[in-house]
Amino acid sequence: MIASCFTLLILQKFCRCKEKGKIGRLIRLIFADMTKLFLKKKIAARIANGHPWVFGNEVDKIDGPIEPAGTVDVHYADGKFAGRGYINPKSQILVRLLTRKPETIDAAFFHRRIAEAWAYRQKIGYTENCRLVFGEADQMPALIIDKFNDYFVLQTLSLGMDHWKPAIVEALNTIFSPKGIYERNDVPVRELEGLTQLKGFLSEPFDTKIMINENGLRFHVDIENGQKTGYFLDQQDNRKAIQHIVKGADVLGAFTYTGTFEIHAAHYGAKSVLGLDISENAVAQANKNAALNGLDAICKFEAMNAFDVLKQWGKDGRQYDVVMLDPPAFTKSRESIQKAITGYKEINLRGMKLIRNGGFLVTSSCTNLVQPELFLQTIEMAAKDARKKIRQVTFQAQASDHPIIWGMENTNYLKFLIVEVTDK
Ligand code: SAH
Repeated sequence: MIASCFTLLILQKFCRCKEKGKIGRLIRLIFADMTKLFLKKKIAARIANGHPWVFGNEVDKIDGPIEPAGTVDVHYADGKFAGRGYINPKSQILVRLLTRKPETIDAAFFHRRIAEAWAYRQKIGYTENCRLVFGEADQMPALIIDKFNDYFVLQTLSLGMDHWKPAIVEALNTIFSPKGIYERNDVPVRELEGLTQLKGFLSEPFDTKIMINENGLRFHVDIENGQKTGYFLDQQDNRKAIQHIVKGADVLGAFTYTGTFEIHAAHYGAKSVLGLDISENAVAQANKNAALNGLDAICKFEAMNAFDVLKQWGKDGRQYDVVMLDPPAFTKSRESIQKAITGYKEINLRGMKLIRNGGFLVTSSCTNLVQPELFLQTIEMAAKDARKKIRQVTFQAQASDHPIIWGMENTNYLKFLIVEVTDK
């Protein structure tokens, strides 16, 4: 404290009047950084192991004023520095750590972090489309940025990250000179942080119906009105995994959204492909995507409730060589995991019953609340009830532009499984 005041006096003495604004900011910075949170003893291990969240009930005492979204220092119970992050007294997650070093959190910090995230994506082979920033996995908690070639879609899901939005946009402009930036902050989770839901341009307005290339195919993406950020980049590597099993096959896809898996199947040589989604908009977009790739003679989409239809078609004795399922997260809360398991089991059981002897099931789950082992157990239960034998072809996670951080369970969220299905 004394050192800071001393620094301040020197600064005031030597700076000219026009620098006053800067001094003000510096004063705020110095004093904001003075706020220290001390953790309770038991919690330290989890945070020390790399987890960036500090829950309100993990904090023993707070030394200094709290400015919502401001930067604070977190210390272990023994006084050692744990990290620096942003605070939101309205949120159950009181602090999210941005760094483990006592470095300044400013626009330059976000520029550096985003540049690092891009360098990593390039290093692991992404060039056009990728999840550029995957929140905690890129040490930018609650920030999502999807890169669709020259267009960027952004979500700031916490108060602290929302505060830095101008700096983030500035970094994107400097690093990429994008054709457009759009925010899809129309997500309920923001309300837990006291934020409103909104969407709109963060650049000059542009045509939000864009087109992307993936694995040699082209897809229309509606970044304004599509689901989430407009497109599910997390399955982009998994879509390639169906290449060999669909040749000459009759394929049924359910929960298709804009038809990416199904159009891949047609492209890789399927004889016929039928895709189902409950959303009329998604189906219209999927049919457009099939036509865009000249695959509309093979690949058709219809708006239907997959649960009802799969059950009925099972009774009717319909058969396919490959069934692909990519349902939405059946749960968003820990309390209803069992409901999700029941949903996954049900849909997979119905899917398996539609598969010809020796055909394949391609199945996914996108909620981190159902961890990989539990998902596999669920598929095993479904196979047992369907009286089918299954042989694993591949079991994968999300594309590697959504990095999995060991010790941070919620970064390991997507399960993608292909099994051969035979009659018992
Ligand atoms: N496979 C897609 C992503 C699917 S997201 C891709 O790779 O892009 C899940 C989809 O399931 C959404 O499009 C949603 O509209 C759809 N959906 C949700 N409930 C459904 C139901 N009961 N029947 C059919 N589709 C459903």
